[in-house]
Amino acid sequence: MPEGHTLHRIGRELTDAFAGTAPAVTSPQGRFAESAAILDGRPFERAWAHGKLLFVEIGGQTVHIHLGLIGKLAVHATDGAEPAVQGAVRLRLLNERYVADLRGPMVCTLVTPVEVDALVARQGPDPLQPSAEPTRAWERIHRSGKSIAELMMDQSVIAGVGNIYRCEVLWRQRVNPAYAGRRIKRGTVEAMWHDLVRLMHVGVHTGRIITVEEDVADAERDIAQGALKPAYDRPNYVYQRDGQPCPRCGARIRTRVVAGRNLFWCGGCQRRT
Ligand SMILES: [Zn+2]
Repeated sequence: MPEGHTLHRIGRELTDAFAGTAPAVTSPQGRFAESAAILDGRPFERAWAHGKLLFVEIGGQTVHIHLGLIGKLAVHATDGAEPAVQGAVRLRLLNERYVADLRGPMVCTLVTPVEVDALVARQGPDPLQPSAEPTRAWERIHRSGKSIAELMMDQSVIAGVGNIYRCEVLWRQRVNPAYAGRRIKRGTVEAMWHDLVRLMHVGVHTGRIITVEEDVADAERDIAQGALKPAYDRPNYVYQRDGQPCPRCGARIRTRVVAGRNLFWCGGCQRRT
């Protein structure tokens, strides 16, 4: 499943490709055809994300998209001609220079402004929103008897975090993933939050989940200089490394399903509350 940085990146790509134009909007597969007809030829305003929710504003209307497990939204430059439709395309946007195809989403539907507000209100704070801060996340974690590993996958606690960021941030901050939320100190939640802000910011700019500190620092410097390199390919610390030694303490990395996904952690050095 895409993590939040992917949705923010798609929002930027759509806005860059279509803002200020009036794209043709179609549903080649047919399941979004009635709504597409309402949007067709209207001015594209912007696309934006909150966590894993994507909103596309066209002609005063808003489309809510959730990619779910298998959905994909790809934006490509064209040579001016409309590319042939490949597979089941739920939604296609086309202007003179770009095409965007949405395939296999869990949700693709027109929503009212009230529904947009309600959808966003059910989400926790999103580390990629510039004004977001972790107080609401802390309040929910602090009141919960669920494990911090489970809470980190709950989009109403922190929006946009998926399994890779969960595993890697818990390891980076030395947090024991099995501890109940109410045992975790406020300073620890704030440290995890600021780590997520850093890592997910790098993720939006590079299009990749980069979690190893040397690569994160390199990518941050390159982003600031506007010169990304096709590197940053050190493996993760613990994600999908079960059975291997922990890069920090040498203990064996473990795995177990928590909140429906394989959690990876080190039983040796992740003790922090
Ligand atoms: Zn360790």
